[in-house]
Amino acid sequence: SKVFLYNKKFEGLPKESDFKLVEENVPALKDGEFLAEAAYLSVDPYMRAYAVGLPTGIPMIGGQVAKVIESKNSKFPVGSYVHGQFGWRTHTVDNGATVNMMPTYVLPDFGSLPPSLGVGILGMPGNTAYFGFLELCQPKDGETVVVSGAAGAVGSIVGQIAKIKGCKVIGIAGSEEKGKWLVDELGFDHFINYKTQDIEAMLKKLAPKGVDCYFDNVGGETTDKVMLNMNTFGRISMCGAISGYNGAPAKIVQFPIVQKQLKVEGFIVTRWADRWMEGIEQLSKWIKEGKLKYRETVTDGFENMPKAFIDMLKGGNTGKAVVKA
Ligand code: NDP
Repeated sequence: SKVFLYNKKFEGLPKESDFKLVEENVPALKDGEFLAEAAYLSVDPYMRAYAVGLPTGIPMIGGQVAKVIESKNSKFPVGSYVHGQFGWRTHTVDNGATVNMMPTYVLPDFGSLPPSLGVGILGMPGNTAYFGFLELCQPKDGETVVVSGAAGAVGSIVGQIAKIKGCKVIGIAGSEEKGKWLVDELGFDHFINYKTQDIEAMLKKLAPKGVDCYFDNVGGETTDKVMLNMNTFGRISMCGAISGYNGAPAKIVQFPIVQKQLKVEGFIVTRWADRWMEGIEQLSKWIKEGKLKYRETVTDGFENMPKAFIDMLKGGNTGKAVVKA
C-alpha cells in the first residue's frame, strides 16, 4: 500500500518534488471496518489552496472512489464502491464514519455510468455547480450568465445547468480547443479565451444587455472585467479564485458592487451537506436525459498523482481531472 506525503510547502506552482511517495502498512481489520482500494482519485484546486495551512509530512488530502476488497461491516460489502476523503493513498481501512460524511454515499445503481463520476459530476464538483449556481445566482429564463473556469469540472456543469434553465451562457476559459467543446458539444452560446482575447470588449459584443449572473471559479483580472459588465441587481456566486492560488491572492473590484447593487456571495459546497443526494440525483437524471454531458481527463497510475495535479493547475484538463489507480 502506498501514500503520497505533502513533503515540502508549495511555493508558486507545486513541483513533483513537493511530494514523497512512501509505503504504508495496512492494519488488520477490526469488526465494523472495511478495506478499500483506490479506483479513481481526485485532484482538485482546493488541495493547492488548503495546503498553505497544512503541516508538511502528512498524507496529501483528497477524495477518492474506492472499491471495498475486504469487509467486516455489512453496510459496505466486498465489491461495492465508496467515496471517502481518504487522501492520496492506495488502500484505506475505515469504519464508514468518514465515508458517511461529505461527500459521501455508496454509489447507487447509476446504470452504465462509471464509478469515477463519484469524484466528478456525481460528487463534490457536481454539487458545487448545482447548489452553488442555482441557490446563489437564482438564474431566470432569458438571463445572461457568465462562467469563468468554464471548461473545468465545475464550470462545464454550471454552464449546462444555466442552459437547462433557459439562460444565455458565455464561458471563459484558456484555450480554443476548450472553447470549441463548450460551444459545439455542451451548447454554450459563446466562448471567450481569457489568454488571447479582450474580455471587456468581448462582453460588450456578446452580452450587449449586460450580465445578470456570474459564476466565478477564477477571480483576479477576469473577475474585474466581468464585474464591470454586470447589470443592476446582478448576482455573483464566488466559487473559487484559482488565478490567485499559485501566487498573489485574487482581489475584487469593489465599486461595481456598490454602483450596480450586486449581490456577491461566497460558499463552500458542504453548506448543502444535508441536501447532498438531491443534487446527485438531479444531476444523474439530467445525464440520463441527455441534457448534461461530461468529460474526464484521466491520468493513468497512482504514482502519477503529482503530475496530474500540477497539469490540472496549469489547465491541462478539460472537464474533471481524475487519476485511475
Ligand atoms: P477545474 O477542473 O476547473 O481545473 C482548474 C482549471 O483552472 C484549469 O483547467 C485551468 O483552465 C483554470 N486555471 C488555472 N489557472 C488559471 C488562472 N490563472 N486563471 C484562470 N483560470 C485558470 O477545477 P474545478 O472545477 O475542480 O474547480 C474550479 C474552481 O472551483 C476552483 O477555483 C476551485 O477552488 C473551486 N471550487 C470551489 C468549491 C467550493 O465549495 N466553493 C468546490 C469545488 C471547487 P484554463 O485552461 O481555462 O486556464
